Amino acid sequence: MSERITGHTQLVGLFATPIRHSISPQMQNEAFARLGLDYAYLAFEVGKAELPAAIQSIKTLEMRGANLSMPNKQLACDYMDHLSPAAKLAGAINTIVNDDGVLTGHITDGTGFMSSLQMNRIDIIGEQMTILGAGGAATAIIIQAALDGVKKISVFNAKDGFFASATEKMAEIQAETNCDIQLHDLAEVEKLAKEIATSAILVNATGVGMKPLEGQSLITDPELLRSDLVVADVIYTPSETALLKLAKEQGCQTLNGLGMLLGQGAAAFKLWTDQEMPIEEIKELLF
Ligand code: NAD
Repeated sequence: MSERITGHTQLVGLFATPIRHSISPQMQNEAFARLGLDYAYLAFEVGKAELPAAIQSIKTLEMRGANLSMPNKQLACDYMDHLSPAAKLAGAINTIVNDDGVLTGHITDGTGFMSSLQMNRIDIIGEQMTILGAGGAATAIIIQAALDGVKKISVFNAKDGFFASATEKMAEIQAETNCDIQLHDLAEVEKLAKEIATSAILVNATGVGMKPLEGQSLITDPELLRSDLVVADVIYTPSETALLKLAKEQGCQTLNGLGMLLGQGAAAFKLWTDQEMPIEEIKELLF
């Protein structure tokens, strides 16, 4: 008889749409099983219209918490009793923890990115980062990097809808941390070259490089990529984007977005269970 699910099993949900493609249920359930923890993680197709009731159900059903993805990350903040400092700055959450009916919202994408650097023995504390993009993933990374002690962050975004809101957001993050954060137009190619030249790491935090923009890269000049520059991409499908391929050819250390994905899941797992996810075992199993 299966003893994996019992009358005491605590439920964790994933509220997003579309959601059936997500690997988070396998990642979290495998980690619960490996550590012998009496939890179960299930995905629920939840859009903005269903979100208030779904969050209320965390309290009603005494669930341990939830993960959130598109399109719920920002709206969910309105239903939290508390927000972590990073979530407050981001104005978005991807993890909810229920402590006896009190809901706290966290954002673990940035923690996931920073822990993926640590796992690869890359230390950027006190250094400069250049990041392409100022959307959700980029903002989470910028906030955590600034909170962790990265000295300067040069953000490059196209003059699209994200640019105007990013101007205010970056000023807010700078005011709350000791980090010097500058937002530039991605079209300023000379400025981009100058900032990369003094950076320890270059991060692509846009969807350029994955479908439907697979094969494309915002950086095409190999001269910008010196061999001691770390080049990271938040994309994990494909596992090597055009940017990472170019960077590898220049001798740079490269990282795809898989470490960030596992890291954000591991950080949420720790918040629910107070245990470390066996990341390396889970990675081997899923990828
Ligand atoms: P978003 O919609 O919030 O932001 C999109 C960003 O990409 C903006 O900065 C926008 O200006 C930029 N952009 C889009 N098209 C562009 C183009 N043609 N040229 C230049 N810039 C362009 O999206 P997001 O949630 O921040 O996701 C961005 C990427 O990060 C996606 O590929 C997503 O899959 C990935 N992501 C990965 C993880 C992970 O765990 N590895 C987590 C979250 C997101």
